[in-house]
Amino acid sequence: MLLSNSFIPILKNNPSEAKIKSHQLMLRVGMIKQASAGIYSWLPLGFKVMKKIEDIVRQEQNKIGAQEILMPTIQSSEIWKESGRYDDYGEEMLRITDRQNREMLYGPTNEEQVTEIFRSSIKSYKSLPQLLYHIQWKFRDEIRPRFGIMRGREFYMKDAYSFDVSDEEAFYSYNKFFLSYLKTFKRLSLTAIPMAADTGPIGGNLSHEFIILADTGESKIFTDKRIFDLDNDDTQLEKGSLESMRKKYEQFYAVTDEKFNKEEFEKIVSKENQLITKGIEVGHIFYFGDKYSKPMGASVDLPGGKKDFVKMGSYGIGVSRLVGAIIEAKYDDKNEIMKWPLSVAPYDIALIPMINKNDSSALDKANNINKELLKNNIDAIIDNTEENFSSKIKKMNLIGAPYQIIIGKKGEGDLLEFKVTGEETQNLPLSKIIEIITKQKNSI
Ligand code: ATP
Ligand code: MG
Repeated sequence: MLLSNSFIPILKNNPSEAKIKSHQLMLRVGMIKQASAGIYSWLPLGFKVMKKIEDIVRQEQNKIGAQEILMPTIQSSEIWKESGRYDDYGEEMLRITDRQNREMLYGPTNEEQVTEIFRSSIKSYKSLPQLLYHIQWKFRDEIRPRFGIMRGREFYMKDAYSFDVSDEEAFYSYNKFFLSYLKTFKRLSLTAIPMAADTGPIGGNLSHEFIILADTGESKIFTDKRIFDLDNDDTQLEKGSLESMRKKYEQFYAVTDEKFNKEEFEKIVSKENQLITKGIEVGHIFYFGDKYSKPMGASVDLPGGKKDFVKMGSYGIGVSRLVGAIIEAKYDDKNEIMKWPLSVAPYDIALIPMINKNDSSALDKANNINKELLKNNIDAIIDNTEENFSSKIKKMNLIGAPYQIIIGKKGEGDLLEFKVTGEETQNLPLSKIIEIITKQKNSI
């Protein structure tokens, strides 16, 4: 893609309304455009990143056997009256009246809608477990929308729901999502820590929030540092293996402020392992048994002929919030260098030819390099503007493709000036550069 043809409205300076670095960068490089408070349009650069995140989230849901559906954004109030949440949800719910005077709402979450779908079709334990998910816009009329898309009113979420015959089976489903979350965040190059959480208005009895560390985060967290060293590489999708994986994480104290107890913390965690800091919630999983299935009458036939309400859990990932969370984790705002992880980068590489009016040879060379890159499925952005070198580099550092090739007027034979963005230049042939990027891509 040629920069001159792309819709990347870059600002010279940080917009003053943005208080945290992700919001600053997203406005600065034109990833988003505010439409009204807490509501944004996604422009090409931001949309590309979000779609790549969405793909990774989807792949990891599919790997644990979850099936994708798509529920509407607009829901009927009827099902929310059945669950009792129509009144409980309060002012965060955007309520709408249609022309027939029916009460509708813009879904803030989908427990009721999915339970309604389930109960109309599934009648027997033989069809369980069922793991269903969708990736859809949500609306919550947040009292204080802020930090750009981090706390928006309209936001993009993956929400999954599990249906099981017993508590034991439901914990198995819960643990599958627990693992898929660890894997998802790792592929996004984030360290997200599962922390014991309160179940809040969704209700129930088992819950973890997945939190990444960030000074600008809104969650206060209290952990045993050693939890950061854990991995899940040997976990199999089978009951025992998943159970011991979750136990491995749960052996270390890690909670958000809702569950924090100072005395307990100081007793359990030795001084040198205590970490008190802030973080961003990127995912949240709940087990809540028959909280919705009971009032909504979602039951199944059991083996002995009896009936019971199906046991449910729900599992959310903030797909749009993750765009901001990755920036918070990766953006060097002092030097104004963004390094997108290759897994979600808007472009794999930036080609930066030095161009002046009477000499297009560097641009020709960039176009030729681009042809080779395309053959190898490497997505490049070419800065074909005639600006000076330092402003070109500045701009490309903000756009944040993980790699750069700088093309001067005369090249040194076959060697190209290649950079991991923000690092030292290396002189490499194109074939080697393609090999490095391809290898990195295949490891995602
Ligand atoms: P928070 O505590 O941040 O308000 P929540 O606990 O209300 O979030 P959940 O219902 O658990 O949110 O939603 C699942 C995920 O959706 C969250 O982990 C978060 O990543 C994302 N999310 C929630 N609210 C917003 C929002 N207003 N803007 C962007 N993402 C959000
Ligand atoms: Mg939450």
